[in-house]
Order: sequence, then structure tokens, then C-alpha cells
Amino acid sequence: MSGISSVVKEAVRELKRLIDPARVLDTPEARLLYAYDATAGQHLPDAVVKAHSPAEVAAVLKMADRLGFPVVPRGAGTGLSGGSLPAAGGVVLVLTGMAQIKEIDRENMAVVCEPGVITADLQKAVEREGLFYPPDPSSLNYCTIGGNLAENAGGPRGLKYGVTKDYVLGLEVVLPDGETVRLGGKQVKNVTGYNFLQLFVGSEGTLGVITEATLRLLPLPPARKTLAAFFDRLEQAADAVTAVLAAGVVPCTLELMDQKSIYYVEEYLRLGLPRQAEAMLIIEADGLPEETEAQAARIARVCRQAGARDLTVARDSAEADRLWRARRAVSPAISRVRPTKIGEDICVPRSAIPAMVREIQKIEERFGLPIVIFGHAGDGNLHPNILTNRRDREEMARVEQAIRAIFEAAVKLGGTLSGEHGIGLTKKDYLGLDLSPRAVALMRAVKKAVDPAGILNPGKIFGGGSA
Ligand SMILES: Cc1cc2nc3c(=O)[nH]c(=O)nc-3n(C[C@H](O)[C@H](O)[C@H](O)COP(=O)(O)OP(=O)(O)OC[C@H]3O[C@@H](n4cnc5c(N)ncnc54)[C@H](O)[C@@H]3O)c2cc1C
Repeated sequence: MSGISSVVKEAVRELKRLIDPARVLDTPEARLLYAYDATAGQHLPDAVVKAHSPAEVAAVLKMADRLGFPVVPRGAGTGLSGGSLPAAGGVVLVLTGMAQIKEIDRENMAVVCEPGVITADLQKAVEREGLFYPPDPSSLNYCTIGGNLAENAGGPRGLKYGVTKDYVLGLEVVLPDGETVRLGGKQVKNVTGYNFLQLFVGSEGTLGVITEATLRLLPLPPARKTLAAFFDRLEQAADAVTAVLAAGVVPCTLELMDQKSIYYVEEYLRLGLPRQAEAMLIIEADGLPEETEAQAARIARVCRQAGARDLTVARDSAEADRLWRARRAVSPAISRVRPTKIGEDICVPRSAIPAMVREIQKIEERFGLPIVIFGHAGDGNLHPNILTNRRDREEMARVEQAIRAIFEAAVKLGGTLSGEHGIGLTKKDYLGLDLSPRAVALMRAVKKAVDPAGILNPGKIFGGGSA
């Protein structure tokens, strides 16, 4: 570590000659500012470089390759698996200064942008042109396209529209040795060679730094209808999820909040939600106006048949916003309950949601810890959030056991450790629960081939200190 810091000191001196010195920082304040992300982890970098061009990214990586220090790409730092934390020290390479939308190409239905563009800004810019970029992580007002690509971020609209990977047409990537590759482009079909484009999507900043993306767009759906359904029993809500889809409707979102989520959001915002309901579904249909109305009516019918005690169909966008406010407030609302909130991100086949929820409830009882469940029920992607206190060692030992039990249950039900937040630092010790030793070895071999010196984001994804 001290070896790395002295190497980085030398790099800082050299980088200040290549890059505006105001963007090459190694003061204690700057280092502390970039020691965090949205997890509770903290790792101090030795220096911070704010890149403003692909050439500057390449200069940092060439120097890292020559001198041998780690580089950790960073977008907005909203990651929930510790991906942008400099676990092995080195340089945090901040990409938020590369935030230009270079081109909105209507003819080819594509947008070309830099990695630091904030997701919501990109969405608004293309919507002004009547176009639509669907991936919508709940953090979209803060997170960046680069971070979305590196985590393959998803969101409520994933059910109908897929996730970030489904919109990637082309990437420019600076490799760990500082060389640049361009993969894909504006063409919709491309089977030339291995699908390396997608190798970089979801690679969590461990294989290359994305410096430009070409993303696919859709026509903006002209109409949208939002419904909220409340159920006395969680199983009824889970049944409603499968029944809606079985009825031939594919809503664009199908979000689940459990009783604790409803209760804490109501405590926080006083929206008039029924606190005693065991589950709330927020369902949205979109498309042409008539089709959307018909879909909403069918969804309402199916929810009532599944036992909904209460059903609200938003009459206008203000009412729809009120329903979405409840869902978006879950994280802040439950963060107030106990000092620490540990959010997990398992994904199971949709049909296994009731079984998974029951397993989580058993785990909650077994370990005596409050666990709030919400998430993208249409995708089987649930976020069990354990409310705890990081300072209480005895409790944290139980939290660790509960997390392992949740992962084991998810995998047993045919699911996986992460649906959208990635493995990063926080889940790397559990990788073997999900992937076979051969699969892990293959992934390590890919990392070794692309980054033999272990420059980019070392200590992530793979347990046991592997680069
Ligand atoms: C309140 C809240 C709600 C959230 N909701 C969702 C959700 O609904 N769905 C979801 O998927 N996630 C969600 N997240 C997690 C997070 O917002 C996403 O993972 C997001 O994609 C991270 O983007 P970022 O710009 O903050 O990246 P960072 O956190 O800065 O980095 C994330 C990873 O990407 C790498 N990286 C960043 N930029 C680049 C680049 N240009 N090239 C290569 N690697 C790069 C980093 O090294 C790191 O490994 C949520 C987070 C919060 C705090």
C-alpha cells in the first residue's frame, strides 16, 4: 500500500504536466471525498484524477501500466456493491466531467454520448426529440451512463424494455494498458467476431474504461397509465404478478412493496397508504392511448380477481407521480429506521417470488433482524433490505449469516446473487455460491488476458484477493 502511494506521488507529479493540475488531486480532503460510494464502505484513494477526454483517460492508464498502480473508474458513486471504492488504493479516475451528449441520430434511432452523462439528462434530451431511452435505475437523477453500462443497471421498466445491455450498440473503451478499442457502432445487427461489446457491459470497471457509448433508442410511447393495488396477503400480490402476465399483458413496470415498506413510507410521507396491507403493487402500462387504457382495465380486473382489497387507477400524471413517490421513497424511508441499511439484490425466476419471500421471512425470524422487501417483481428481482446497526458487532455477525442464507435460498430457487447492483466488493466472497469453480476460473482468465498487470479496479468481483 505504501509502495503504491509513493508510485502514485510520482504519477501525480507527471500527470500534472499532462492534465490541468486543478483536476489531479491528492489533498487529504479530495482523497476523503472519493473514498465512499452508496454502500457503507470506505477506502482512501492515493489520488483522484478528473478526466475530461479519452486522451486523458488513456494517459492515466498508460502511466498506471508503466509505474504499476491501480486505477478505479468512477461515475457518480451511487453504486451499491462498492465497485467505485479503491479497495487497493491507487487513483480514482472520475468520469463525470465527460458529460457531453454528442449526437441524437433520429434516422438511426441512436444517441452517442460520453460516460459521465447523468441518466435522467440523457432521457430528457432524447424525449425532447420524441425518442425514448428506457433503462431507469431509481438513482437515475444522479447516476451516470458509464456507471450504468459498467453495472448493467436495470430499473422498473426492465420487465417490458429490458436493461442497459439491451440498448448498447457501440462502445469506445480504453484498455488497462492505455490502448483504445471501438466495438460495434450504429448498426443494429453485428455478429463480427466474439461479442466483446457485451463483455464490457457489466464488467464493473475491471476490464476497461468506457469513454463513449452509442445507445439504441425507441419511439416515445405516447400514453401511460399507472395503477396501485393493495393486498391483505403478500401471496395474493405474488399471484397477481403471474396472473397479469398470464393474461397476455406486459406492463412496463410491476413493482412490489411489502408491508414494512408501505408502513415506513407512510410514516415518512403520509401519503394515505393503508399501513395494514401486506403488499402493494405499482403497475404501469404504456403504448398507444387506446391500447394502454385496455391494458390498464385488464390489469385492474386481474388484480381484483387475485384479491386486491384496494385499487387506485391514476387519472392524470400528478396522481401517477404520487403513486411513484411511494415506491421511490422506500430507500430514504427505511434508512431512517435504524442506523444501517444493507440492501441486497437477488433475482429469482418470477414464479419463485412467493417461495423467496417466504424464505426471507423465515430468515428474518431465525436471525431476529427486520428485513424489508421491495423490488421489481415482474423481473423476479427483489431487494431484501436488512435494517441494522453497523456498530453492533454481535448483530452484524447475524447480518452476515442472514445475507448468506438469503443468497443460498435465492440460488436454491434457481436465482442469482445480483440482478442489477453487481458483485463488486460486497458480494465477492459469495461468488462460488452461484458460479461453478470452472466458470469462476474462466472469468479470472478473461480478466488476466485483458488486464495482465491487474491495473483496473483490483480486488473486485473475485474473492481471495485476486486482481
Ligand atoms: C437510491 C439508489 C437507488 C438505486 N437504484 C438502482 C436501480 O433501480 N437499478 C440499478 O441497477 N441500480 C440502482 N442503484 C445502484 C447504482 O445507482 C447503479 O449501479 C448505477 O449504475 C451506478 O452508476 P454511477 O455512475 O453512480 O457509478 P459508480 O457507482 O461511480 O460506479 C459503479 C461501477 O461502474 C464502474 N464505472 C463507472 N464509470 C465507468 C466507466 N466510464 N467505465 C468503466 N467503468 C465505470 C466503477 O468502477 C464501478 O465499478 C441505486 C443506487 C442508489 C443509491
